[in-house]
Amino acid sequence: MTIIEKTDKYVMQSYGRLPAVIENAEQYIDFGSGVGTNSLGYCDDDWVNAVCRQAKLMQHTSNYYYNTPSADFAEKLCDITGYTNVFFGNSGAEANECAIKTARKYSFDKYGKGRHTIITLKNSFHGRTLATISATGQDDFHNYFFPFLDGFVYAEPNDTVDLAEKLGSHVCAVMLEYVQGEGGVCPLEQDFVDMVYMLCAEKDVLVIADEVQTGAGRTGKFLCQEHFGHKADIVTMAKGLFGGLPGGVCLFGEKCSEVLTAGTHGSTYGGNPVVMSGGIVVLDKVSQPEFLSEVIKKGDYIREKLSAVNEIASIDGKGLMLGITLKSKNAKEVMKKALDNGLLVLVAKEKVRLLPPLTITYDDLDKGLEILINILGEKT
Ligand SMILES: *Cc1c(COP(=O)(O)O)cnc(C)c1O
Repeated sequence: MTIIEKTDKYVMQSYGRLPAVIENAEQYIDFGSGVGTNSLGYCDDDWVNAVCRQAKLMQHTSNYYYNTPSADFAEKLCDITGYTNVFFGNSGAEANECAIKTARKYSFDKYGKGRHTIITLKNSFHGRTLATISATGQDDFHNYFFPFLDGFVYAEPNDTVDLAEKLGSHVCAVMLEYVQGEGGVCPLEQDFVDMVYMLCAEKDVLVIADEVQTGAGRTGKFLCQEHFGHKADIVTMAKGLFGGLPGGVCLFGEKCSEVLTAGTHGSTYGGNPVVMSGGIVVLDKVSQPEFLSEVIKKGDYIREKLSAVNEIASIDGKGLMLGITLKSKNAKEVMKKALDNGLLVLVAKEKVRLLPPLTITYDDLDKGLEILINILGEKT
């Protein structure tokens, strides 16, 4: 059996996999970095050393004890972002579960039962657990697995009237992605974000920013919310934060820093020392202003190189999170052709989505862009 046959036989076929077996970093130019996870590219020396050193020292300990890497990581992340404290889980969905629980308990502690509704945006994506697909504002996700979790209301992105109407007395939080990732790389408008914060502040409604995809330098700021000049009460991060190891973090501002008390939430592997050791290397690199301005420069470079391509209708996104709208070609077909030519790209809705490693070299950018431009230039 080939690896593809074996996988299809023994692993549940819940993904539409492409016919490529990824063995090492040399096979492809990667403009997807494993859906934004390998933020420092493949096998960054410092990252590998930190991870291996910790694996040899102690691979895991329970959260009933203390460990050095998770304490150091938490301190660094709070210093960089200005948040008060964190909770560690293993994925983006888990980080969002924690945010949802925290928002509801914050409101319960202060106002009692009933004020539990969370407004999310249409076209959003917040994860695959039952609570987070319930939070996800896309009808396609609300099938098969009934009943879904109660208490989510979906508002139209960039529509302040709709949002204001839905912000009733039963609402405890508004949850949003500053740039909707899976929804097609759609940035929110500044005016709308301003209005969200204004309305929420008036009513003591929490803002939860899902920065699972946009965080950790992806958009050229450490957190995407810095582009908008706002600070959410709760921020969730995952994907690129640990450089390719599984982890998720929920960050709390002052208001929510004491909501989760002993016994109200937990995760066996959350704060795993090996994962945290990799994460510390990511934080040290990605938080540097020079590193972040390079991310912006590389994003601009891609836009400039693609600006002459007739097949491209528009490019959305920020930094190294880009969504390319095509005029006549199908994004999935482009993705398959790119793979055949040695380039990995992603799709989001009808767009070709690029999430290259933040450390990608101009040489690799040029090689990948040449492949992409050739494919987009082909006659259909
Ligand atoms: C990927 C993603 C998630 C889910 O993260 P997992 O690690 O797959 O659970 C949640 N929110 C956003 C915005 C994402 O992009």
